[in-house]
Amino acid sequence: EKAQIGVTGLAVMGRNLARNLARHGHTVALHNRSQARTDALVADHGDEGDFIPASSMQEFVASLEKPRRVIIMVKAGGPTDAVIDELVPLMEPGDVIVDGGNALFTDTRRREAELRKHELNFVGAGISGGEEGALNGPSIMPGGSVEAYESLGPLLESIAANVDGTPCCTHVGPDGAGHFVKMVHNGIEYADMQLIGEAYDLLRSGLGMTPAEIAGVFRQWNTGDLESYLVEITAEVLGHVDADSGKPLVDVITDAAEQKGTGRWTVQSALDLGVPVTGIAEAVFARALSGHAEQRVAARELPGPSGGWGVTDRDAFISDVREALYASKVVAYAQGFDQIRAGSQAYEWDVHLGEMATIWRGGCIIRARFLNRIREAYDKQADLPTLLVDDYFSSVVGQAQSAWRRVVAGAAQYGLPVPGFASALSYYDGLRASRLPAALTQGLRDFFGAHTYRRIDKDGTFHTLWAEEGRPEISAD
Ligand code: NDP
Repeated sequence: EKAQIGVTGLAVMGRNLARNLARHGHTVALHNRSQARTDALVADHGDEGDFIPASSMQEFVASLEKPRRVIIMVKAGGPTDAVIDELVPLMEPGDVIVDGGNALFTDTRRREAELRKHELNFVGAGISGGEEGALNGPSIMPGGSVEAYESLGPLLESIAANVDGTPCCTHVGPDGAGHFVKMVHNGIEYADMQLIGEAYDLLRSGLGMTPAEIAGVFRQWNTGDLESYLVEITAEVLGHVDADSGKPLVDVITDAAEQKGTGRWTVQSALDLGVPVTGIAEAVFARALSGHAEQRVAARELPGPSGGWGVTDRDAFISDVREALYASKVVAYAQGFDQIRAGSQAYEWDVHLGEMATIWRGGCIIRARFLNRIREAYDKQADLPTLLVDDYFSSVVGQAQSAWRRVVAGAAQYGLPVPGFASALSYYDGLRASRLPAALTQGLRDFFGAHTYRRIDKDGTFHTLWAEEGRPEISAD
């Protein structure tokens, strides 16, 4: 008997994906650089399905039916290249190599192009949901050729999360599209978490609520439009009491947020593409700020406003924070989807934005009820200029805006940092402005660098001789 698919790299993710595949009736070949992990998987879970363990890469490849399908689940970067180099001489034209790790999409583009020369199909697949998702149904974002997806898609769709009968897996687009979309997913995850943190901080500082009380608020929010995995687990984390100290656990956790780098990648790519993803960028920078312990200690005595927030209507305040959170979240997602569209255009991937919302509804960390709304928005109008102008989103943000402004203004007055809420509001106001100070920026650029400008009333490119009282000069355009 041959295996339908093989997994090499059997740490938490690979191990759980292999088990998920086996539980769905697929025969799975197993390989890991150090054999102990392979043996442990078979010893612990061998009875969950059909596994073919291999002690060498040769043996592993030989146990696969053709066209061969291999999922690589190793540390991203050099290790992935090392495994690919080992696999390539053992594979034949038409075989499929999947990288399920968190690869940078530009690496995926390079690998896909390289493997295409060997007539091998390389699929960079973003996989979200952590180890739990890998075992019970992740969201899968596979890139690569259409041909590769034909051979691989049914297998991946069978193990992906499923929402209302639709698998959380679809062919995203060629080469690096899958890993690009996974990257933006992670960036949105950063923004989402930052906004949730700000909402918590507002309730805590503005109302003096305890973490347990705030957990209750999040639990309640999770029954409405904000319903999402992250809001759900926020209630869990805030409700958790530390066994050692008897305090809320959140109060004994060091307030320095770490990162593995996918948020940074998202912002770097957004800078290259010229897409303002302020929500994601603020979230990455907020984590960086939190980690600068020395500066924070040095700055602790800097003056801030005196006096408390003086909130009188508690329920109204909670409702304002909820509205501000939802509106800011809509902005963060709108920006993330803009980035996917821009990447898709720049790299010619033809990514279907509504389908991305669809496959994020389950399995992944940002799974949320409101992704249905995003899907509907793109179903109605595939070339929507921004999610913010969709009927549903424009109306919820429009309704939220007074509360949103009260919260941001109050935070500024009270001295509470809300970079996510505030920058989202500025983005919203920037986008809807009829006239921006960018006109002055252009004037300044022309003044010091003769960079020219365009006019609202005439075609062409203009440069002013500023020293000579500014008579415009029309250049040949
Ligand atoms: P790790 O990222 O911790 O990687 C460990 C695995 O990589 C082991 O199987 C190890 O083999 C193998 N490995 C490391 N270096 C090499 C090498 N040079 N040659 C061959 N094999 C090597 O494992 P995870 O399971 O946490 O993650 C796997 C991938 O999935 C990563 O790319 C990660 O970013 C991604 N991912 C992880 C998620 C998570 O929640 N953990 C979520 C989504 C994606 P050995 O046993 O011999 O050391």
